[in-house]
Amino acid sequence: MRYDAIVIGGSYAGLSAAMQLARARRRVLVIDAGVPRNRFAKAAHGFFGQENKPPRAILQEAARQVGAYPTVAFVQDEAVSAEPDAGGFAVTLAGGRRETAARLVLATGLRDELPPIPGMQERWGATVLHCPYCHGYEVGDRQLGVLANHVMSAHQAALIPDWGPTTYFTQGIFEPDAEQAERLAARGVKIERSPVVALLGKAPALDAVRLSDGRIVAVGALFTATKTHMASPLAEQLGCAFDDGPLGAYLRTDAWKQTTVTGVYAGGDAASPMHNATLASASGVMAGVGAHQSLALEIKPAA
Ligand SMILES: Cc1cc2nc3c(=O)[nH]c(=O)nc-3n(C[C@H](O)[C@H](O)[C@H](O)COP(=O)(O)OP(=O)(O)OC[C@H]3O[C@@H](n4cnc5c(N)ncnc54)[C@H](O)[C@@H]3O)c2cc1C
Repeated sequence: MRYDAIVIGGSYAGLSAAMQLARARRRVLVIDAGVPRNRFAKAAHGFFGQENKPPRAILQEAARQVGAYPTVAFVQDEAVSAEPDAGGFAVTLAGGRRETAARLVLATGLRDELPPIPGMQERWGATVLHCPYCHGYEVGDRQLGVLANHVMSAHQAALIPDWGPTTYFTQGIFEPDAEQAERLAARGVKIERSPVVALLGKAPALDAVRLSDGRIVAVGALFTATKTHMASPLAEQLGCAFDDGPLGAYLRTDAWKQTTVTGVYAGGDAASPMHNATLASASGVMAGVGAHQSLALEIKPAA
């Protein structure tokens, strides 16, 4: 069967897009490999109505609600290629299936590359964190650190004292400029220039960091920026254009979340410079509505 739309990625953005298409009574296939970006966190925060729930539970309930619409089908697999096909698109899955649709929605998310310091990965989402709005409250009043990994790290360090006493670890690279230094001082942020070389404590707990000069500094949670990468090469295969974001490239889209390839829509972290579950869900809604309206108004993708 040729679907009206294939949604690749069945998380916050993909399920939000699929919901709009399903409610417009369109035939939708959701393909999901089941590895959302926040799977490392025990609970999600700041997402309206879902406070403190495990990410898996949020997504399972959303998938159940989307799947209740009779025109929706799900497949748990990885989409390994996508290409134009007969005025629409064909998607091939790792398991060998080939599916076709008039429209594609890419909601494939991002992959995080952490700074290469021993002990970071096993604490990711627990005591090594990217976003104070997502997890700062839970580590409030601990000794907090910001490990510089980005030109915006000094800016992040100036925010963190709202959650606890803060040390900014420059890693010997991201020295604050005069204005940043003044702001950090005004906010009571300590600055350490000797690089952090190891994280200490029984993971996922964090007790302290070891510096390259041998000193040990007590830290109960560490914020850091990751480098982000597309979780899937499909957008590149399709020839979609990208823009540079603060942490990595993201898909260029118009106001209706259509990419630069006609008929290919995109939502969520993969198509935004700002990342959280609410923003991903909102842009997924827009991608679903955009895809539906292009179908309803019969704006055909380029051959
Ligand atoms: C550790 C951590 C904790 C976080 N905590 C919070 C929080 O508390 N609150 C908050 O608002 N935000 C939080 N975030 C941010 C949040 O996780 C993301 O903004 C959100 O997951 C983005 O949703 P998405 O649908 O765009 O992508 P994702 O949730 O990453 O989902 C992408 C989906 O697409 C699938 N996929 C990818 N490629 C393919 C393919 N080729 N074929 C099939 N399926 C594919 C993946 O398996 C995945 O299921 C956190 C992020 C991290 C890293």
